[in-house]
Amino acid sequence: NKRVVLKQRPKGVPQKEDFEVNFEPLHLNLKQGEILVKVEWISADPTQLVWISGMKSYMPPIKLEETVRALGVGIIINSHSPGYKVGTYVSGLLGWQEYCKIHVSKVEKIPTAVKPSLYLGIFGMTGLTAYVSIKLLGKVKKKQVVVISTAAGAVGSVAIQIAKAQGCKVIGITGSDEKVQWLKDLGIYGVINYKTDNVASVLRNMCPEGVDMYLDNVGGEILDAVLMNAKKGSRMILCGAIQSYGLKKPQPVYMYPLVISKSIKMKGFIISDYQDKYEEAIHYLSKLHKKGELVYKEDIVEGLENAYQALKKLSTGGNQGKMLIRVLHE
Ligand code: NDP
Repeated sequence: NKRVVLKQRPKGVPQKEDFEVNFEPLHLNLKQGEILVKVEWISADPTQLVWISGMKSYMPPIKLEETVRALGVGIIINSHSPGYKVGTYVSGLLGWQEYCKIHVSKVEKIPTAVKPSLYLGIFGMTGLTAYVSIKLLGKVKKKQVVVISTAAGAVGSVAIQIAKAQGCKVIGITGSDEKVQWLKDLGIYGVINYKTDNVASVLRNMCPEGVDMYLDNVGGEILDAVLMNAKKGSRMILCGAIQSYGLKKPQPVYMYPLVISKSIKMKGFIISDYQDKYEEAIHYLSKLHKKGELVYKEDIVEGLENAYQALKKLSTGGNQGKMLIRVLHE
């Protein structure tokens, strides 16, 4: 079983030498309730930047010499559980490896009608996160101004399309001209490049009436810029803080007193607490996708030895849409 372990904690952006590809013997004997999964796709997620940094989070850090923890999808090739037949696709924390022996209580079956990688993207944790942020917690309404950071990323690009479908005036914030163009092509109201524009002043010009809802994936100075433009009684859904991932000290948010003076409602969340909303999210997202109102991009890194590049891309803004690793079996 080829796998990738964490060799050392990255200093800043993850590099090749922070990981090691090695092989372990694959024991084919399964205990009751276990399955052997051939991993096909691995999700690259910003939360892994926190897990490999050693910092405390909602899950323990990945230890040195441990297989890198990651969500994945794969096909069952051996089973010791009657409900989980060989040939069924499942998703779960399968890790950076070719094969994963896992108990069925830790996986979800996925339908084979749709391509499996979508169960890491628009129909997976990514789509669910966007749905919970915008519909459930953000409670967006028609004509409201909705601002979304990391807008051309996996969660962001689904979130902007949900907000657009709800009839909102959607403004996306992203970090390159190419991504700006993609977001403009998706037909949203406005796009800001935070690397070249002054976010606070461009936002002021785009929506002098103020922001009703902000989906924050970044924290730090971009959150400050939105706070300055927030309406009284607006909502801020704190989904991620990628500006601070892996840093010992989080980026400061100087404008937080505005939360008080503008009676802003801030709500953070972890998507694993909303598994019970998965069915309604999938129903909504599938309908949107069928209507052609939910398009997606996949950014694919090939092979486990290149998996580190996926994390590198996430932390440098190199990805457009869902960042994935395709596992190549020799
Ligand atoms: P993305 O596909 O959006 O990739 C990450 C993007 O973050 C990069 O492409 C880059 O885009 C941007 N970025 C990287 N570094 C910085 C920085 N220093 N400042 C500003 N932007 C930066 O990833 P996901 O869609 O998977 O995740 C997006 C966010 O959602 C993350 O913060 C993640 O932690 C969060 N999340 C939270 C969940 C929860 O349960 N609360 C669940 C899933 C995701 P750009 O070009 O715009 O800079």
